[in-house]
Amino acid sequence: MSAVHRKTKQKEAILGVLKGTTSHPTADWIYEQVRCEIPNISLGTVYRNLRLLQREGVIMELDLAGTLSRFDANIHNHYHFRCEQCGRVFDLDEPVDKAMDDNVAQKTGFKVTHHRLEFRGLCIDCQRSDSPESLKKYLGLT
Ligand code: ZN
Ligand code: MN
Repeated sequence: MSAVHRKTKQKEAILGVLKGTTSHPTADWIYEQVRCEIPNISLGTVYRNLRLLQREGVIMELDLAGTLSRFDANIHNHYHFRCEQCGRVFDLDEPVDKAMDDNVAQKTGFKVTHHRLEFRGLCIDCQRSDSPESLKKYLGLT
């Protein structure tokens, strides 16, 4: 297999994994999944391809301050909810408020292209004190 073909195959496998989930995975999780398909792939290669795909505008990185980067193959603007206990990130079926962009642009003179919003709190599972996620946290497994 040529080097170019190998690189294309790696990139497509990584994108395939990301497109196949709605869990907004971390690079490590993607790496574990891609290894089923390409056992000798390195974590560095996964990171490099994620950067590349992001620059090409094919995927989105959820990289809010102080959190581990998670990736999303859905690049249409949408809001997220991040559980502060288990760290899971969920898509929200909430319309994006374009008026906020205009508002900020008008008040500041900035050219606003879009905004990103992440809600925080506890997911349904973590609101139950006996949830597996809570238990794992209690046992120090997460
Ligand atoms: Zn949770
Ligand atoms: Mn999303």
